[in-house]
Amino acid sequence: MHRYDAQTAELASAVLAYAQERMRFDPAPLDAPMSPAELAAAVGETVTPDGLGGAEALRLYDEVLARACISTDHPRYLSFIPAAPTRAAVLFDLVVGASSIYGGSWLEGAGAVFAENQALRWLADLAGMPASAGGVFVPGGTVGNLSALVTARDVARRAWARDGPGGTVGAAGPPRWSFVCGQEAHSSLAEAARVMDVDVVVAASDGRGRLTGATLADALDGLPAERRAGVFAVVATAGTTQFGLIDDLRGVTEVAGARGLWVHADGAYGLAALAAPSVRHRFDGLERVDSLIVDPHKWLFAPFDACALVYREPQLARVAHTQQAGYLSVLDTPEAWNPSDYAIGLSRRARGLPFWFSLAVHGTRAYTEAIERALATAAACADQVRSRPYLELVGEPELSVVVFRRIGWTADDYHAWSGRLLRAGFAFVTPTVHRGETLARFAIVSPLTTAKDTAEILDTLRA
Ligand SMILES: *Cc1c(COP(=O)(O)O)cnc(C)c1O
Repeated sequence: MHRYDAQTAELASAVLAYAQERMRFDPAPLDAPMSPAELAAAVGETVTPDGLGGAEALRLYDEVLARACISTDHPRYLSFIPAAPTRAAVLFDLVVGASSIYGGSWLEGAGAVFAENQALRWLADLAGMPASAGGVFVPGGTVGNLSALVTARDVARRAWARDGPGGTVGAAGPPRWSFVCGQEAHSSLAEAARVMDVDVVVAASDGRGRLTGATLADALDGLPAERRAGVFAVVATAGTTQFGLIDDLRGVTEVAGARGLWVHADGAYGLAALAAPSVRHRFDGLERVDSLIVDPHKWLFAPFDACALVYREPQLARVAHTQQAGYLSVLDTPEAWNPSDYAIGLSRRARGLPFWFSLAVHGTRAYTEAIERALATAAACADQVRSRPYLELVGEPELSVVVFRRIGWTADDYHAWSGRLLRAGFAFVTPTVHRGETLARFAIVSPLTTAKDTAEILDTLRA
């Protein structure tokens, strides 16, 4: 089963034909989940001592399993954050899978790491980070946020051990470490705090739900001195998942900078819009952050799973994250850029390569155009909401998330509507909850999502 024999050749044709057909769909069927019982009845036991054979395993996948997975790249999939990988990125994902590249070290993966780093460089340049900036592609924003915060705490711990609070040499660490974020910060930050056993200080928002320099300063000043001394970082959200709001990066970096705090920008969804001139100014101040993340698998048109984690001073991450072991010591040379040294994890897929390949194929201008198209579709959708008397916009969209209310509807109405559209194979639009109220929310990332799509979905809310 490790040799490319006649059977493998047959399977290769079938698998590649399947992949090609899936890529050719315009659009792919939306599909919908099935229950475990339905799936068990349809496929039976697939892991057997003798194996099913390639044709049968692929048939079960094609005819049953794949159809029980929602196509996240469908142009009317507007729930959560959709996916919209380019064909080039998808194709190259097949190549990465076929190539057994170890992406954790320079020794083993130099060519792949070099290419990934050029893709990271493009992002770092868009952010206004210095030439010394660098990082790694990790599986997702959750691991990216956690890795950045682990680095930030490591830096704070070392500073404490060196200087103590206010120069009191030798003082033990603070009773509790904590980081500050805004009320609309992503749930992965609470997860990071649980994993790290640190506290989260949630700062108040301005009227729109954004963390600002002033609300950050208030939050810090409101803490007892002992707790304030344990604050090691501030997380600014550059595009909240719920509304697409961008925190006041200029104000936050100024206040945090004056207090010597690490600033991490969580831009898993929103920082893709750095490439869009029409909204670039909303990220002013980003050039001052210490670390940032953005997920190519969200709005940068790469397949799952890839999060770009970039540090202003990557050597700080290297100190915090490098795993030490006898069998690894050969990798640890000063000049080697080992991606695993900059985040949690050791073995790694060169998961930035599909993103890199697509960037190399299409050029960055195509990215700018595709991101601007999603912004324009979101703006058109907001206009469509405003023009329908049965709908009410909840906040003006800053990026490509549109949240609105169907006047007179209960939570059950939203859920019934959402279920109806999915069952019909027409659209996937799950409701959200904001301050206890169930609302409709469209997140738009695909350049294939059109104003006609959003209008047709909005029309289904009339009844
Ligand atoms: C999606 C998201 C995350 C989590 O990223 P994953 O890739 O899903 O782990 C974190 N922060 C924000 C703002 C997000 O939108």
